[in-house]
Amino acid sequence: EALSDIGLAAVIEQVVEMAEVRARAAGATILWTAPDAPLVVRAGEVRLAQVILNLVTNAIDAMEGTPERRVEITARRADGRAVVEVRDTGPGIAEPERIFDPFYTTKSVGGEEGMGLGLSISYGLVQSFGGAIRGRNRDGGGAVFTVELDLVERAA
Ligand code: ADP
Ligand code: MG
Repeated sequence: EALSDIGLAAVIEQVVEMAEVRARAAGATILWTAPDAPLVVRAGEVRLAQVILNLVTNAIDAMEGTPERRVEITARRADGRAVVEVRDTGPGIAEPERIFDPFYTTKSVGGEEGMGLGLSISYGLVQSFGGAIRGRNRDGGGAVFTVELDLVERAA
C-alpha cells in the first residue's frame, strides 16, 4: 500500500464504525471528538486504520469488568504535528515498558487469548510513516495511547 495524503477524521470515523459492534457487546461507549480543522497526514490508509483500530480494541478489551467503560478518541494539532489520542477508563497498563514487545500480552477476553502482536506491529507501521506511538497511564486511572504524525501542510 502506497502512502498518500489522508484526512485523519475520515479514517477515525471508519475505525469507530468498525469498533462499535465490539464496544456494544462489551457495554462500552466510544466518544469521538472530531477536530475543528482538517488534519491531513501522509500514511498508508489501511495500515493507519489498523493501528487505531488496535488501540480502540485494546481499550475496549482492557475495560472488561470495570464499572465505567468509556473510550475517548480525539485528534488535534500540536507543534506542527497531528496527535491522535485514545483514552480509556480501564485498569491502566500493568507493564508500560513491555507493551510494544512482540508477543507480550496479558489478555484473555472471553477465553480468547491475545497474540501480543498488535502494538509491536503498530509500532513498526507508525515508524514507517515517520511518526511515533506511545502508551502511558493516566493520572486519574486508565490508559492513554497517542499516535503522532507529521501534518501535510497545504498551500492555501
Ligand atoms: P494483544 O491485544 O493481543 O494483547 P497488543 O500488542 O495489542 O496485544 O497489546 C499488548 C498488551 O498491552 C496487552 O495484552 C495489555 O497487557 C497491554 N495493553 C494494551 N492496551 C492497553 C490498555 N488500553 N489498557 C491496559 N493495558 C493495555
Ligand atoms: Mg491488541
